[in-house]
Amino acid sequence: MTIAEVLPEPLPLVLDEAPDESLSSWLNRHAEFYGVSPSALNLRAGINTPSFARIDYWPTAGEACSIASAMRRTPEMILSMTHQPYHGRLATMIARGKPVLACPECQTIHRRDKRATVLLKSWSHGWRITCPVCSSRLQEITEGKIYPPANAFDHVWDEARNGEEMLASIDQLPTDRAAFAVALLHLLLLPRSRTRNDVQRQIWRGRVLDVVIPGFDDVDRHAPFTVHTATPLVAPLPIRVALLAGLWRTQNNPDLYDRIESACSGRESIRFDAAKIKLLADAHPAFSHLQQIRDSSPFWSRYFLQRKRKTAPVSRFRAT
Ligand SMILES: [Zn+2]
Repeated sequence: MTIAEVLPEPLPLVLDEAPDESLSSWLNRHAEFYGVSPSALNLRAGINTPSFARIDYWPTAGEACSIASAMRRTPEMILSMTHQPYHGRLATMIARGKPVLACPECQTIHRRDKRATVLLKSWSHGWRITCPVCSSRLQEITEGKIYPPANAFDHVWDEARNGEEMLASIDQLPTDRAAFAVALLHLLLLPRSRTRNDVQRQIWRGRVLDVVIPGFDDVDRHAPFTVHTATPLVAPLPIRVALLAGLWRTQNNPDLYDRIESACSGRESIRFDAAKIKLLADAHPAFSHLQQIRDSSPFWSRYFLQRKRKTAPVSRFRAT
């Protein structure tokens, strides 16, 4: 049996994909068009997955070939409709499940073109604040949740756009710089040490980002954003604007990075160093400054000194 014989027959009619449309959205529209359930369309396209959602994140090469055959496209075109091209460096910034943002301009066009259910890939990308198709400002899909004021960080919008642009073209950055940029986003959200000023501002748990974007904690205090290391870094829109602007500022000003480090002392400093070393080592084990960072970290040297002590040779002289 040849490969062509196992691949599914092409569908009689295939709909055009919208620019930046996600694969699951496109397949869903075909299920609607043919009046079948999504699982029936899946089987017709030769894929055996309970939901369309996974196919956007972890498509296998075999699935891409099957879908390509059924949908009259090439496997490369199918993979480009998934999040796979971003897995290398931005995997930790892709939202799971439904998109969290939307582009009102593109939605208007989709409704006009009778394809109102289209969902774009960029609506799940944690580094996006503008639409890659029409450049409009993205908006939050709120669903009753309370978020900080949408325009809270409009004064740093241009810098945030630069940060977004840097991440969108992260593949062009040298590996070290790319790993550091993504690590920095996480580091900016870590807690900093308390200052005397915090009491007046009624800030109980300030973040490092407040050092780079003054006033961040005043907004975050009203609608605290929770960061879990196990979930993707997809911040609510106003927080994201501040975060991207913070990334851009810090990348372009080494003094600012020194100020971030000195804003963390004691427990916060230990946490900052440990997070930095872990993020960089995970992202890029051959990061050129990793050893230097470990050596200069009080936390890290203490850890190794303790270990050294445990394995120290026993004294040649018997204690009497
Ligand atoms: Zn748009």
